[in-house]
Amino acid sequence: MRDIRLGNPIRLTTKHGYFFLRHIGVGETARISLKPDPAVDRTDIAKEGVVLSRSLNPKDDTSPFRVRVQSSCLFSESFWATDCDCAGQLALALDLIQTSGGILIYLYEEGRGIGLRRKIEAIRLQQIEGKTSSGAFACLGLGPDARDYEVSASVIRQILGEQAEIELLSNNGYKERQLRDYGVNIVKRNRLIPSELSSLQKAYLASKRDDLGHDIPNDVIAPESNGKDPENADRED
Ligand SMILES: [Zn+2]
Repeated sequence: MRDIRLGNPIRLTTKHGYFFLRHIGVGETARISLKPDPAVDRTDIAKEGVVLSRSLNPKDDTSPFRVRVQSSCLFSESFWATDCDCAGQLALALDLIQTSGGILIYLYEEGRGIGLRRKIEAIRLQQIEGKTSSGAFACLGLGPDARDYEVSASVIRQILGEQAEIELLSNNGYKERQLRDYGVNIVKRNRLIPSELSSLQKAYLASKRDDLGHDIPNDVIAPESNGKDPENADRED
């Protein structure tokens, strides 16, 4: 079990309302290699992040508690890149948690946990060689999703309690299963589908459904854009 510590809360004012924010610290920093290195990878991933809540003590919110586990996506969240749905899901989750309470766990897990350097290399392989996201990951010797949810499960337990009933905000069944395996009591899962999706984002959602098994309804993906743009559609998050 890794050493996972929460910091003292500060207040954060956002477009989505007022939140309390705590630091999540995990283990120690290690070097990131381009190819996976089993000796360091598990300690590299998700070594820092934050958790946001509407209430100073989220246990005061209404059960089941809404929980979003968000992996960072620098390009959409900081540079407004329009070919993935990461920033849209983040905005939806903040609005839902602001409305009904709960927590949002945000971890530096670029590229589904492979890190920023490898994520950029995977995108380069997609753009230069026309590979899919999963294909590019495989070229780097990586699986399609490297994330592990031990940190998130620990944060949920520390903040909401061991037996808290959780409403998970996610389209990702793998995330739900992993959190359950770490003992999180998920009683409900709600999808997060941004309302206005570009054709690139729809194609990206289609690739998430087809390659990663994400729970994306058919009517979200318009027939005219239910294909893959080799230049942009398969970027990972
Ligand atoms: Zn993204």
